[in-house]
Amino acid sequence: MKAMKSIQTLERQDKQVASVFYKEWQRVNEGVELIPSENFVSKAVLEALGSIFTNKYSEGYSHKRYYGGNQFVDEIEDIAVSRAKQLFGAEHVNVQPYSGSPANQAVFFALLNPGDKFMGLDLASGGHLTHGSPVNFSGKLFKCVSYNVDRKTQFLDMDAIRKQALAEKPKMILSGLTAYPRKLEFKAFQEIADEVGAYHFSDIAHIAGLVAAGVHESPVPYADVVTTTTHKTLRGPRSAIIMCKKEDRLKQKYRPDGKKNLAELIDFNVFPGIQGGPHDHVTAAKAVAFGEALLPSFKEYAKQIVKNAKALADVLISGGLKLVTGGTDNHLILIDLTTKGLTGKGKEIQMALDEANITVNKNTIPYEPATPFNPSGIRLGTPAVTTRGMKESEMEVIGANIVKVIDNHSDKNVIAKVKQDIVELSKGFLLYPDL
Ligand SMILES: *Cc1c(COP(=O)(O)O)cnc(C)c1O
Repeated sequence: MKAMKSIQTLERQDKQVASVFYKEWQRVNEGVELIPSENFVSKAVLEALGSIFTNKYSEGYSHKRYYGGNQFVDEIEDIAVSRAKQLFGAEHVNVQPYSGSPANQAVFFALLNPGDKFMGLDLASGGHLTHGSPVNFSGKLFKCVSYNVDRKTQFLDMDAIRKQALAEKPKMILSGLTAYPRKLEFKAFQEIADEVGAYHFSDIAHIAGLVAAGVHESPVPYADVVTTTTHKTLRGPRSAIIMCKKEDRLKQKYRPDGKKNLAELIDFNVFPGIQGGPHDHVTAAKAVAFGEALLPSFKEYAKQIVKNAKALADVLISGGLKLVTGGTDNHLILIDLTTKGLTGKGKEIQMALDEANITVNKNTIPYEPATPFNPSGIRLGTPAVTTRGMKESEMEVIGANIVKVIDNHSDKNVIAKVKQDIVELSKGFLLYPDL
């Protein structure tokens, strides 16, 4: 086991746990990470996460706490809030949600009553579990009417969504994606919400880094509420924030809750609504990550994510693979395996790629002909490899190897050869070399 500087005490105290840390470092450095929801944070963010702020209890909000000794937690939270406001141009920001799913839960509880109808993107069309899946709180407690991508083009059809909204009269419309490789038209979503008198809730978990960098349209000027995770393209710690307008455009139309404005309503539904004490070490790490995202270099990073995704998509297409919608406009790509005779074989392909040190995830494709556990798609993306410094030429090598593995997924020799190439490629892009 290689000694790691950042965990010297841990290595002395608990070899069993420390040894696993090293194995993970090695796994990351000998492979390529193509899961589009993942990224690698900076060492500064890691340091903030493993810091003294993990110890404090600070229920409440800055300067209005239920515990003493919070003057420096307040200072940290204030920095995080003001940087997030600057980054996204938001009127109000809550930096306390533990992660994306609880952030979304707080928004549902703030705007709607249980049983109320809303519209969200179907899971198979690229939506998230919290956008109304029947196994999730959003589908269990609220009445979800899903919208889908167009069966032929696999793009979202804003006219069809408008017609559906006019017929269904939802109280909230959710715009957001987790496996849709094209841009979302937030202004068009807002116009539909205005026309039917619904709230517009936008969840930019996947694309927040692109939005912050101006590479993707922002919903912040339009939507009533915007949530995002902070650990995907935004490249911060595993967490989330909620942004909203100060005033409630619909004046608590569906869920009367006193004289609160929208900002107060959101805060009240995070704490005490669904959470207790905020994770102050994560708030500190968010402040650091927002500071990084405000730098000009982050814009370059976000642009490169999209360039890399396009380059990777091109290689996959020339290798004979079919991509959902025929390509990508953002950071992610969805391979449709059905034309290779691999319907329902997403899991096998994911495992074969894993053996070759290429990390991806199996995913449903629109109108999935197989099942969610054995789906017909592979989802991949470029945020993490771009953080490691890879560019278009590396995407060509990776893409060609993905095609090789898919075409020879039961040939151990081919997989072993690809693995060698990937280990070799990765060595030139060491992550946390002196961790
Ligand atoms: C990842 C994601 C979430 C959930 O985030 P967790 O932190 O995993 O709870 C919510 N919405 C969308 C669109 C996502 O992609």
